[in-house]
Amino acid sequence: MINGGVKINSSETDVNMMCGLEIHVQLDTNSKFFCDCKTNYQEVPPNTNICPVCLNQPGAKPYPTNSQGLKKALIIALMLNCKIDQSLIYFLRKHYNYPDLPSGYQRTSLPIGFEGELNGVRIREIHVEEDPGQFKPDKGIVDFNRSGIPLVEIVTEPDIFSPEQARTFLKELIRVLKYSDGARGEGTMRADVNISLDGGKRVEIKNINSIKGAFKALKFEMVRQKNLIKRGIEIQQETRAFVESQMITVSMRSKEDVDDYRFIPDPDLPPIAIRDDEIVDAKNNMPEAPHNKVKRFVEQYGIDEESAKVLTSELELADDYEEIVKSIEPKFAALWMRDELKRVLYYNKLDYRSSNIGSDKIIQLLDLLINKEITTKAGQRIIEYMVESSKTPREIAEELNLIGIISDDEVVNAAKLAIEENPEAVDDYHQGKKTSMNFLVGQVMRHTRGKADPKETVKILNDLLNN
Ligand code: ZN
Ligand code: MN
Repeated sequence: MINGGVKINSSETDVNMMCGLEIHVQLDTNSKFFCDCKTNYQEVPPNTNICPVCLNQPGAKPYPTNSQGLKKALIIALMLNCKIDQSLIYFLRKHYNYPDLPSGYQRTSLPIGFEGELNGVRIREIHVEEDPGQFKPDKGIVDFNRSGIPLVEIVTEPDIFSPEQARTFLKELIRVLKYSDGARGEGTMRADVNISLDGGKRVEIKNINSIKGAFKALKFEMVRQKNLIKRGIEIQQETRAFVESQMITVSMRSKEDVDDYRFIPDPDLPPIAIRDDEIVDAKNNMPEAPHNKVKRFVEQYGIDEESAKVLTSELELADDYEEIVKSIEPKFAALWMRDELKRVLYYNKLDYRSSNIGSDKIIQLLDLLINKEITTKAGQRIIEYMVESSKTPREIAEELNLIGIISDDEVVNAAKLAIEENPEAVDDYHQGKKTSMNFLVGQVMRHTRGKADPKETVKILNDLLNN
């Protein structure tokens, strides 16, 4: 592991790696950047959200830049602690030839924000640009529904020192973008990665479409470059493409044919100028960034950082936690929401927002526990049902007959019964078979309808079996 540039210890990384990222994510706007076409390209048949402007037909001129997109990009820049450039920001034409780009150039702005920071990684700059269409070589078609959708591009300094750190950084970045309510998720992410080993030549990897892809591409590239160094072969400066299906990178072009984008200011688009009142407005409307929320949760509610991170993993979950701790002890609520709630959500592959659970139901469940109307075990079972049921925790508890905490005597009697009924398991136990204990605990649970405390049950069974 490498931390903050200081090498600690890892067999994987006995070379020093430096990596910078360029991340594109779609801005969440209703219409495209320079025309009125809709942006829901995934929900409609190919080539239906199109017009002369986003097809760049002769004579078609762009509309004024979509202000919703600019506002959202500004909020993202501020949440990533960037300084805002308030001079005139021009759109440039970046020329290249590819079937997804009918105009032959992509409109890309000069930086809006610069010198930001996230998780110890410096953000060099943030700008906006338009998405190209989608060329599908296997089908021989181009779908222009996507062309002209606003993108934000975030460029970091080479402050990332391992594939693991790149993964953590990207996860946190996607979380900030989701929080900002300005960008679409990881599904629209496209990243380019720069990597160099031990101060060697810089290799750029393009075509990375997911966090996992970035991690795999960096891992692959480290091994590839290390092997070349071992064999005494010098690393060439080049651009490589990541092939997601095989998790490898392949050479695209060497430095002899460097990109020549022939940047010129777009004469069809007036430059943007971000005013003071727009910055004030954005600051007033922007949510607290997740990393700041973690710090505040630790200080304000006295919970540990790990719990705070889990609770802030989703804005809705964080908001509901703050609602819940108005009436429930914060550490107790954090424990249940971090361990049990997240466990159940994870198991069901749900995020909190799309589950049936809300703050009211969590409060009711925690109250049942606090008032000792149900056992811990019963609480764990109820929360499993809460995900899929519209019923309240109390209704679920009643339905499953889980109301009531059982007395120690009843558990002892159930344990005696379990031992009596299962001589084979008892034999196994005495021969040191550990699984037989689990079986006996299960039998006690059955006799007590799940109301016995599992740890207590193990203790009671051990006592009975050894006396
Ligand atoms: Zn259009
Ligand atoms: Mn770009």
